[in-house]
Amino acid sequence: MPDLDSRLRPTFDEVLRRNPGEREFHQAVHEVLSSLGPVVSKHPEYTDGAIIRRLCEPERQIIFRVPWVDDSGQVQINRGFRVEFNSALGPYKGGLRFHPSVYLGIVKFLGFEQIFKNSLTGMPIGGGKGGSDFDPKGRSDAEVMRFCQSFMTELYRHIGEYTDVPAGDIGVGGREIGYLFGQYKRITNRYESGVLTGKGLTWGGSQVRPEATGYGLVFFVDEMLRTRGESFDGARVVVSGSGNVATHAIAKVHELGGTVVACSDSSGYVVDERGIDLDLLTEIKQVRRGRLKEYADAAGGSVAFVEGGSVWDVPCRIALPCATQNELDADAAATLVGHGCTIVAEGANMPCTPEAVRLLESAGVGFAPGKAANAGGVATSALEMQQNASRDSWTFEHTEERLSQIMRGIHDRCLETADTYGSPNNYSTGANVAGFIQVADAMLALGVI
Ligand code: GLU
Repeated sequence: MPDLDSRLRPTFDEVLRRNPGEREFHQAVHEVLSSLGPVVSKHPEYTDGAIIRRLCEPERQIIFRVPWVDDSGQVQINRGFRVEFNSALGPYKGGLRFHPSVYLGIVKFLGFEQIFKNSLTGMPIGGGKGGSDFDPKGRSDAEVMRFCQSFMTELYRHIGEYTDVPAGDIGVGGREIGYLFGQYKRITNRYESGVLTGKGLTWGGSQVRPEATGYGLVFFVDEMLRTRGESFDGARVVVSGSGNVATHAIAKVHELGGTVVACSDSSGYVVDERGIDLDLLTEIKQVRRGRLKEYADAAGGSVAFVEGGSVWDVPCRIALPCATQNELDADAAATLVGHGCTIVAEGANMPCTPEAVRLLESAGVGFAPGKAANAGGVATSALEMQQNASRDSWTFEHTEERLSQIMRGIHDRCLETADTYGSPNNYSTGANVAGFIQVADAMLALGVI
């Protein structure tokens, strides 16, 4: 890792010492701190108030046992997490991830990122994240329900519409939010809609929430293209992943005139030169919860499935990593640059390794970090909370327009801030600094707590 500003190094050393082995958390902290040198030069009050040191220490970390009984009658034990990272701007807000890779370091990296992302949206939401090492893959609906009920039986005492508002992430979608909300309602005897977001439309959910992360990502890139005098029209795009974010990103790219020629899952990738067929993809991945190979089998001749390969080998002008952290490394970045790629925007959280980001930025590729480019999901969660609080529900068009305005606003704030702090056109610096300053000022105002 390149060295940090000497005023920030001790903070990072403290993070390394206090959080041993939490590699992804170290990476996320280092990435933010690497942007803050010019900020502490301009604002000594942040260092004097130990704002950055406080920001790196979660306000609260909860770890709990999640026992449940599988379909064969066996008792299973998973571990549950909720890291309530920062509530200076509002109740903790952030998703739950159910995936076997989940451990404290992953939850902390995601929670840390969420602080700055949520701040960038301009909405009154703090940062938090949670999840479990539960693997939903191959589990029946009934097993998923029993797991969610057990998970909420502990989590309910820590959350609330004014306290902490979870939502989905990898492995947690509408089905899981339903089971979690049902159990919360049952235990508390309260129809507290604003305690979770990502709910179904008939029970307090918002229009556009399922689409929001993917759509928001594409609105953000559309704005990047506009600043270069370009558009999606005729653009060749590659998306990694094939879950919620990827699917809706593909839909919006196609709507704006681009063509997504490839997408992936953990087993490999498909290349469909006609453009990914979304109905087929959704049927296989969302409805059947199947593998991507089935897409090639169903689509026939012209579609190739490449088992185990890297989707970044497919030439494109715009790359949208929408799968998971550290999925796009320096080799992949070099391949993208070699193929003439001009924009990489993160739909997932931290999908590009630091080496990949450095390589892309030094090659002049426009790089949009997840905390800015994928903020549409959580922003629309905040719109869902707004609708819940006012017992209202908005139309699809109105909600999508709000999302579009928020994403274009984040884009402009990133560019303006990058400019002010001496890194013109650097979206990473812009996102980190703009996200940071708003939280830091609120923390200063609230005293040493
Ligand atoms: N998990 C999403 C994210 O990474 C959404 C969180 C939310 O809506 O609270 O931002």
